[in-house]
Amino acid sequence: MQRYSIFSLARNALTGHKNWQQVWRSPSPKKEYDVVIIGGGGHGLGAAWYLARDHGITNVAVVEKGWLGGGNTGRNTMTVRSNFLREASVPFHEKSLDLYHELAKDLNYNLMVSERGMITFIQSSAVNRVQMQMANTMHIYGAKYRMMGLDEVRRRVPIFDPPDDMRLPIHGAIHQPRASMVRHDAVAWGFARAADARGVDILQQTEVTGIARENGGVTGVQTNRGFIKAKKVAMAVAGHGSVVADMAGIRLPIVTQPLQAWVSEPIKPVLNEIIVIRSYHGTYLMQSDKGEIVIGQGADPYPSYAQRGTIPIIEDATAAVLEVFPSFERLKLLRHWAGMLDMTFDGSPIISKTDVKGFYVDVAGSGGFKTTPAAAKTFAHLIANDEPHVLTGELGLDRFHSGRLVPEGGVSANH
Ligand SMILES: Cc1cc2nc3c(=O)[nH]c(=O)nc-3n(C[C@H](O)[C@H](O)[C@H](O)COP(=O)(O)OP(=O)(O)OC[C@H]3O[C@@H](n4cnc5c(N)ncnc54)[C@H](O)[C@@H]3O)c2cc1C
Repeated sequence: MQRYSIFSLARNALTGHKNWQQVWRSPSPKKEYDVVIIGGGGHGLGAAWYLARDHGITNVAVVEKGWLGGGNTGRNTMTVRSNFLREASVPFHEKSLDLYHELAKDLNYNLMVSERGMITFIQSSAVNRVQMQMANTMHIYGAKYRMMGLDEVRRRVPIFDPPDDMRLPIHGAIHQPRASMVRHDAVAWGFARAADARGVDILQQTEVTGIARENGGVTGVQTNRGFIKAKKVAMAVAGHGSVVADMAGIRLPIVTQPLQAWVSEPIKPVLNEIIVIRSYHGTYLMQSDKGEIVIGQGADPYPSYAQRGTIPIIEDATAAVLEVFPSFERLKLLRHWAGMLDMTFDGSPIISKTDVKGFYVDVAGSGGFKTTPAAAKTFAHLIANDEPHVLTGELGLDRFHSGRLVPEGGVSANH
């Protein structure tokens, strides 16, 4: 793999940037792989890289029906954080933040990790109670989460200027300093480049249309480019989980819902922190490195595979943002888009074996960009060892039978 550095940049500048190596190959599918991973988003590509790096398993293909990161990885609002409620969640999300902070070096790829901090407004005693509970769990695991008075909010966010007659007055806030923004498609590309360098075949424009089974175990995948034999098949296809799992005869306990986001025209830097107006349906906003004000809210409240959302959510979230930041009134809407979330009933992800031998599922859930490195690492562990990683022991499918759910109020609104 060609190393990116100040020296390679200078060298290539001198030759007019004509000699950069191809970032990854586009091989033809082999007849057989040890592992086929369905889904070329961050989770699938990351799992392939960890399989190769941590477990020495390199006869691996990542099969992607479109282009790398063209699913939800390239559509999310780039926020990564670990403020969660449950014991099973906080260490998993903390690990993900740790990994995010190391990844750029490990992958030799700039992921533009920007530690902005997240400020969640407290506008009701109900939110206060949840945040206190969250803070208690987080403190047990050494994660910083602290109350913040309005004076400090004003110091940190000079444009914070809510009117005195707000629908729900803001009493204070809670702050996670380590919450960050990470360049989303760079995560897919960085993993892809490093996995390719270790021998993983990345097959774009290759759609899995069937999963072959014999004697209760997988034998391969049918694709639009022919049949590919595989000893193990793993899916990481956020938004298409039910469809792909159904190919293996498995019904997942999930519902697919659209999630949308939109950005303003770019402006000069005015907002460093990620802001969550939780009591207004989890509206959140931040300023991207390009200068756009990025706005989002919870998922549209109905199942759909259409990658578009509805106007009432945009209207509601925009009204919430303008109430707290009236000066944004003059901004123009630049771009709007949507993706799909495979929502589990307890709000936590699924990283699990299944009843089909050799078939594994990673369901990212409602906010799976933040979990990408931890999910990928623990998914690779599960695929390699047929046993869950210690961090994901409680995130298996069996919890929906046993009733030992991991209910996460920490994810329902603010991604
Ligand atoms: C608008 C929006 C904002 C979000 N904001 C955040 C956020 O700020 N923070 C956060 O943590 N999360 C956020 N999320 C959620 C996050 O984006 C996803 O959970 C995460 O990206 C899932 O990653 P993945 O790799 O599992 O899936 P994806 O990136 O969706 O990759 C799955 C891939 O599988 C492919 N695929 C599907 N079916 C097949 C098939 N049959 N054959 C071959 N390939 C197939 C798809 O083409 C796709 O590329 C947001 C999501 C949206 C839509």
